[in-house]
Amino acid sequence: MTIQTEKEREDLIEGGKRLAAVLSALGAKVAPGVTTEELDDLAEQLIRAGGDEPCFLGYTPEGAHRPYPATLCVSINDEVVHGIPNESVRKLKEGDIVGLDLGLRHNGVIVDAAITVPVGQVDDETTKLLRATEAALARGIAAALPGNHVGDISQAIQKEIEGAGFSVVKELGGHGVGEHVHEEPFIPNYGRTGQGELLTEGMVLALEPISTAGKASVVLAPDGYTFRTKDGSRSAHFEHTILLEKGGARIVTAA
Ligand code: MG
Repeated sequence: MTIQTEKEREDLIEGGKRLAAVLSALGAKVAPGVTTEELDDLAEQLIRAGGDEPCFLGYTPEGAHRPYPATLCVSINDEVVHGIPNESVRKLKEGDIVGLDLGLRHNGVIVDAAITVPVGQVDDETTKLLRATEAALARGIAAALPGNHVGDISQAIQKEIEGAGFSVVKELGGHGVGEHVHEEPFIPNYGRTGQGELLTEGMVLALEPISTAGKASVVLAPDGYTFRTKDGSRSAHFEHTILLEKGGARIVTAA
């Protein structure tokens, strides 16, 4: 989506603020013993209480064989993204990490964001993975300037994650957002500066570095949604929706 009116801009910013509040509440609920289904129920309840709609529920992404059955994606440890919280319900354990990926539609405008949260105390390597992936998101956002190219974002993210000794998942990445859950351009988390589509003022993008502590390969589970690392290593994921403005990117889903 490219923002063209003040009304669209206001709806985007308000939607982002609401999504950030819901994600913060979900993050605060994460604790040993909490189930994935409880998190999903809370996400749906909070979104609807604000008068908005979950936008993953019932959405069929390109290549999927059925609509996504939940509000929230919950991906634990070696689950990379798109874990389904309300089918095989799982209980969080001390030392786990849990990725929470959520989108909502506010006045017709879609926003998308994700965090990965430690459950209680996690080991040092895991903490390092989380920090590097969050830092990669910040680097990507800093590179998202009108006049730059998609490859500038990709390269910034890749450099941060690989520089910390981790791997970038190649099959998954960021995307345009706003009117639909997934729009052009695809934003790989690896690439070269100056390559890919030109970034212009008003573009709405979801940037989402996805990293692994081991090798980069992922496999899709028989449920058709859950990606896992092939080697069983842990994976982290952070995402913000951003609006490209003259001086730089505005983080729409900032907490
Ligand atoms: Mg996304």
